[in-house]
Amino acid sequence: MLDFCAAYGCSNERSIQTRSRGITFHRFPKDNSLKRQWELAVKREGFVAAERSLLCSEHFKPDDFDRTGQIVRLRHGVKPSVFNFPSHLQKVFVPFGKRIH
Ligand SMILES: [Zn+2]
Repeated sequence: MLDFCAAYGCSNERSIQTRSRGITFHRFPKDNSLKRQWELAVKREGFVAAERSLLCSEHFKPDDFDRTGQIVRLRHGVKPSVFNFPSHLQKVFVPFGKRIH
């Protein structure tokens, strides 16, 4: 069974190639409310994370990681925030007042 990233539009899977690019894979949180926030962040309609669901490190900001140990971990409570969504989904992220007329 392949480990691959659950994010919409992302095709990263756990392999030698992604490893050499420094991409790490992270399980959805066990905490239910945080897990729900991850599921919503993924923006896949009706998406519910399975126990083995993963997101790759490309969806997190550099500050979200704890690189002090041998294994790269996510800091507690961080949410995925970096996605390359199709333009019709990206509109959601335009903050009020920043629209160019
Ligand atoms: Zn990914």
